Order: sequence, then structure tokens, then C-alpha cells
Amino acid sequence: MIIFLPENIKDNIYKSVKTEYPKECCGILLGKVRKQVLICEKAINTKNIAPNPYQFFEIDNQEIINIQKIYRKNNLSIIGHYHSHPNSILSSKPSKTDINSIFDKNLCWLIIGINGKSIELSAYFPVKYNNNSYNLKKINIK
Ligand SMILES: [Zn+2]
Repeated sequence: MIIFLPENIKDNIYKSVKTEYPKECCGILLGKVRKQVLICEKAINTKNIAPNPYQFFEIDNQEIINIQKIYRKNNLSIIGHYHSHPNSILSSKPSKTDINSIFDKNLCWLIIGINGKSIELSAYFPVKYNNNSYNLKKINIK
């Protein structure tokens, strides 16, 4: 599994990460899935409704449904989501909370670590174990 993430989309995501800093920013990735390739065609910044947005993120379900409705017409579907880790020692690695909140094994995760001016981006895809627990496996970004 790899994700194809065009430079202009990456730049849009970085812009949102910097705008929301030091809060966590979050958003939805739209695109297409071709065999083992996720093709990202759009990133939409969403509101972070977590009670503590400095350490957590939560995307409003209604906002997800609205995005789905709008982009279904363009044959784009939700392929994943992104969020930032401001000033975290984890940088772009998933937190325990991230792993515990995997709800869809078909959605890719982009995590952006931001410490001052340095930014690190990683992509992950869920893996499900026999005991029904999940983890996030790092995937390549092209
Ligand atoms: Zn996280």
C-alpha cells in the first residue's frame, strides 16, 4: 500500500497545520483507491471538535457526512484523514489514543508532527490482528 500525495495537496495540509498551531489540526482526504495505491485528489480541513484540541482531535460526524455527499457526485470518496501533533515527542508517529480510535480499517492516516518550524509527515494504514485489535503500519508517500 502506498499513498500518492501531490505537492499542492501537501502544501495545503501544511498551511492548515501552521494556521491551527499550537492546536491540532484535522481534515479529510478524498480520492480514489486503485489496488494497492491510494490516490489523494483533495484535502479538506475540518473543525477539531475535541474538548482539548491542543492534545487531541475529533472530526464532527455531520461534517464527514456533508463532505461525502458533496464529493460523491465527483466520484471521489473518503480515503483517509489527517491530523497534526503540535510540540509532541511523538512527532509524526501515532499516539496510543490514535491506535485506540481506529474505526475503519480502510482509511489511511496522515500524521504531521510540528515542532516550531520543523514539520514531519508520515502515512499509515490500519492492520487488524487475529484478536481484533488494530495497529497502524507505516506506508510510503509518493
Ligand atoms: Zn495523533
